Parts: sequence; C-alpha cells; structure tokens
Amino acid sequence: MRSHLLNGLTTEHYRSSVTEGVERVAAKLATTDRPFTGVTVDALTPRVDAIDLDRPLGDTAAVLDELEDVYLKDAVYFHHPRYLAHLNCPVVIPAVLGEAVLSAVNSSLDTWDQSAGGTLIERKLIDWTARRIGLGPAADGVFTSGGTQSNLQALLLAREEAKPGRAGWEEGDPLAKLRIFASEASHFSVQKSARLLGLRQEAVVPVPVDHDKRMQTVALAHELERCTRDGLVPMAVVATAGTTDFGSIDPLPEIAELCARYGVWLHVDAAYGCGLLASLKYRDRLAGIERADSVTVDYHKSFFQPVSSSAVLVKDAATLRHATYHAEYLNPRRMVHERIPNQVDKSLQTTRRFDALKLWMTLRVMGADGIGQLFDEVCDLAAEGWKLLAADPRFDVVVEPTLSTLVFRCIPAAVTGPAEIDRANLYARRALFASGDAVVAGTKVGGRHYLKFTLLNPETTAADIAAVLDLIAGHAEQYLGESLDRAS
Ligand SMILES: *Cc1c(COP(=O)(O)O)cnc(C)c1O
Repeated sequence: MRSHLLNGLTTEHYRSSVTEGVERVAAKLATTDRPFTGVTVDALTPRVDAIDLDRPLGDTAAVLDELEDVYLKDAVYFHHPRYLAHLNCPVVIPAVLGEAVLSAVNSSLDTWDQSAGGTLIERKLIDWTARRIGLGPAADGVFTSGGTQSNLQALLLAREEAKPGRAGWEEGDPLAKLRIFASEASHFSVQKSARLLGLRQEAVVPVPVDHDKRMQTVALAHELERCTRDGLVPMAVVATAGTTDFGSIDPLPEIAELCARYGVWLHVDAAYGCGLLASLKYRDRLAGIERADSVTVDYHKSFFQPVSSSAVLVKDAATLRHATYHAEYLNPRRMVHERIPNQVDKSLQTTRRFDALKLWMTLRVMGADGIGQLFDEVCDLAAEGWKLLAADPRFDVVVEPTLSTLVFRCIPAAVTGPAEIDRANLYARRALFASGDAVVAGTKVGGRHYLKFTLLNPETTAADIAAVLDLIAGHAEQYLGESLDRAS
C-alpha cells in the first residue's frame, strides 16, 4: 500500500495515475453534449449504495470506470454553454494546473514553516487585489474558503471594532444592541454570520431596494438615524456589489458617505461583482468600493477559478488582530516579533489550502486582462439576453442587468392568473432539468416564482439563450395543456 504514497519513489505511478484521470476527464469534457443527463436521485442512489467502501478495487483504471458510473456520467457540467443556473463558472486551465500542483505538494498556508514561498505568493495576491480595489497602503487580507466565510470574518472584525469602550457597555447583553444594515437583496450569509456572532435575530435590519434592486440610501439614512436615536449601536453596513439574483450593485459612494457620517464599518460584499476589478470596460461600476473597511471577493465566481478560491480584504491590517490567537506548538507570540509571516494569525481556519496558487497561475499565464475580458463578455451577453427578453411578449424580465444575470418569467398567452403563472414556471424549470437540455435557476420576486439565468460562460451565445427561452416557453405551454386536460 505504501506504493500509493506520493514520494520520490512513486513519481512514475503518480504521473501515470494522474494522467489516466486527466485523460478521462478531458475525454468527458470534449464529448458532453448536454449540461446534465437529467438523472434522478432515485436512479443514482442505488448505484452509489451498491459500492462497498471496505472492498477497494486497488486499481486506478477500475476505480475510474466505477467513477464514470456513479459521478462523471451524470455530473452537472458547468463548462457546457447551456448551463445557465447558479454562480458557477467554467474554469480556466492555468487554475486547474495550479490545483494539481497545490494538491500534490500539499502546502498548508497556516504557518511559514508549512508553506514558505506559498505564504509570499498568497500575500502578493492579497496586495494585488487590495490595490485593484484601491484600499490604500495599510490594507491586508487573507484567502478564505468562500464568500460565506469572508462575510463572517468581516463581520467579526466589524463587531469587535464596534464595541464602544464606554462604561456600562458590558452590562446586560451588549451584543443585543448591535445592528447590521443590509439590503433586502443581500446574501443570506449576512444573517447566518450575525447569528454565529451571537447577535439577535433582529440584528440584521433589511434596507429596501429601489426598482433596480439597489439599496435605497434614503432608507439607509433613516434606519441609521433611528438606530442611534433608539440607543442601539450600528455595527456595520453591508453593501452588495453584485447581488446574487440580480447582479445589482448598491450605490457605494452614497453608502460610504453615510458610513463615514455615522462612524459605521462598511463591508462591501463583492463575492460576485469582484470580476469587475479585472474588467477592461466596466470597472467604474465598482466606484466607491475603495472606501470600504472590508471587502469579500470570490475568485471562484467571476475570476473563472475552481472552488474554492476567495478572500477577505481589509483597509486597516491592524483590524485582523481580532482573528489572532496564539498556540505554542504553531504560531507562538514571539514569532510576531521575529517577523515570521504566519497567515494563521489572520485567518479563521488553521490548516488551509494553498488556493491562491490557482489565481497566481491564472494571472501569470493569462494576465488580469485575460480574465477581465472573459467577464466583460458574459456581461455583454447578459445585455443581449435582456434585449431578447424585453422584446419577447412571452416573457417578463425584471431588471436590466448590471452584471451577468437575468431574472424573468414566462407568461403563456392562455394563462388565467398569477398562481398558474407560478406553476407553469416551476414546471418549466423542473422539466428542463429533467431533460438535461439546459439548466436554469429560479428565485422569487415579490412573492412570485421567477426563473434565472446566471451567465458566466463566455462560450454561451445569444443563440443559446434564444434556444433555451424557446425550450422554457415550450415546457410552460405543455404544462398549461396538461392542466387543461386535467380540468376537463
Ligand atoms: C455567492 C455569494 C456569497 C457566498 O459565497 P460562497 O462562496 O458561496 O460562500 C456571498 N455573497 C454574495 C453576494 C454571493 O453571491
């Protein structure tokens, strides 16, 4: 069994095994003609159940055959141009190469003595990102597992910075006084984080959005005023730069102005919109982001990186101390004075993947412009898709896209009421998924069911969008036909 350990003696085995796997995946990617097979849970479960994990096959080729059956054959393929559902991107090849390298070397980025150069590469990418945002000379940050963790860490820092030193603060239940302001269209990880941070259910104050799904700053000002008047403590404003459903970007300059006036931490959740940091055409849509105290970026959404690749950035490196704990065996305090760079001092994680390498390989091979161009292409595609939808009487589309999502619904001509429109759209989404011809997402707007395209594949064309819209309309019509049959 030692022959399976990756070491100097097994490099030939390593090379042939990995190559065999790469060959399979390459062949798969080249031949998938649909984003999904439409396999059901019931069909797939027995195939996975039948495998006895206590009886290994021993042989790589046999295991890859088995994997074909339980996973590769029926996986959901994000690289296919008709996968239009969630915030998943097709990945760039330099990043996949980075993934292979970082797994094989297996550095852990918590301490210098487990990563050496990896630490410096991560730090350089953090500096690069902070410079693109414009956070200034004292900025810092760290890679995380995703936007959820980045938001949690940012709000942890905000909470610690918000605790007033005044007498009486610690009496009673101080955390009960803290409030976070985020738009109605913000990500649910804001609520989750607040609960994890010991805040109350009502701590996250939803701020209404305007017609374009951007936070209403007049409403925010009103809420901040009310908060202080009621003797509560505004802990943070979370501005979203790219809401998950609509790609809308909250008015960052106005929000920054209000945060400055009330002395509130500004967190910008740019998990999705961060792709604009590399854009050649639309960078100005992020204007004002440089005034943030903290920023979430998900490279695994709009930088075409494999999951996971994400970071949290801060304007003032000193605030990261709220995540610093020392262990004698790992990162003793003296190492700070010895100037040994231990990234664990800034992170919620301990053992941590060298995800930064993927972005490094990407920037070194393609450059930031290469990434920005891809993101610009999907934003332009969304604009084209909006025109198609707006001109098509079969559909109702919610907002003109700022990034690359389209939220819409089908309104079949023969439909009788809103509940039936809901059911027709739910049916169309399910039927499309079951067919495997395309994968689309769904969401609710104003209590009604809508469909959503998240466009992150530059290979998707306007013709693909038109074809998928026809499929959706076809399924919706079919649903109405069937429900008429049922009624008669
Ligand atoms: C996706 C998303 C998140 C969460 O990021 P994960 O990487 O999925 O944890 C947070 N905020 C916004 C706006 C998002 O779109």
